[in-house]
Amino acid sequence: MTVDPVCGRDLTERTAAVAALHEGRLYYFCSHEHRDVFVRDPAAYAARVPAMALKAGVMASASGNMPADVRAAAKGVGRAIAERRMVLVTGAAPGLPHDSAEGAQAAGGLSIGISPALSLDEHVNTFHSPADVFDVIIYTGSGLMGREIVNIRSSDMVVIIGGHSGTLGEFAIAFDEGKLIGVLEGTGGVADIVPRLVEAIDKETGAVVLYDTDPERLVARLVENYVTSHFRRPSVFVRNNRLGADREVPTCR
Ligand SMILES: [Zn+2]
Repeated sequence: MTVDPVCGRDLTERTAAVAALHEGRLYYFCSHEHRDVFVRDPAAYAARVPAMALKAGVMASASGNMPADVRAAAKGVGRAIAERRMVLVTGAAPGLPHDSAEGAQAAGGLSIGISPALSLDEHVNTFHSPADVFDVIIYTGSGLMGREIVNIRSSDMVVIIGGHSGTLGEFAIAFDEGKLIGVLEGTGGVADIVPRLVEAIDKETGAVVLYDTDPERLVARLVENYVTSHFRRPSVFVRNNRLGADREVPTCR
């Protein structure tokens, strides 16, 4: 349950008419009219209701061939997430996930790393993973593949950049569990074969896949999709909700 900050009406997150992102937090509205009132002066309304931060996951190559332009693009994704005050989620891995966390940190963002390890010592010494750019590290103790599930389920939306088998696993989990997915095109690896994967998977899960070559525009489009549509069914783990967020009819007004 949540409350429309403009009119005070009780809403459920899955049947609200529309949502809006303000300072990284998600607010829900009974109507587009009240969303518009909020957007014109969010500071006047935001403090009236509790609101959770929106979390964007970045799943990407931790090693291998990472050209300078792809590393810069990963940083750009982290920056675009942090500039909206959203929380960045990564596997706390080196390589592109680390670059995205660096970009988020430089923009003053909050960054969470989902570690495969049991402890900080194991994270650094056994998995040779960085700990320098994260505000919080969650120690899953689940190993490299096991933590992928926590990675994806902790993210409201998922960005895919380049990627090897780890990223492929994360894409598969995100797709199968109906997530909102953004693919940064032209970054090689798994990212550039996603259209073929989607065709081969040939399965309706409620997942939405957006493609873009520009980090800032990709994050902007993901947020726009989430606040207008995907919030109604952010994953398959939503009860009493039919497949396909766009087919849902809001019950309030
Ligand atoms: Zn309202």
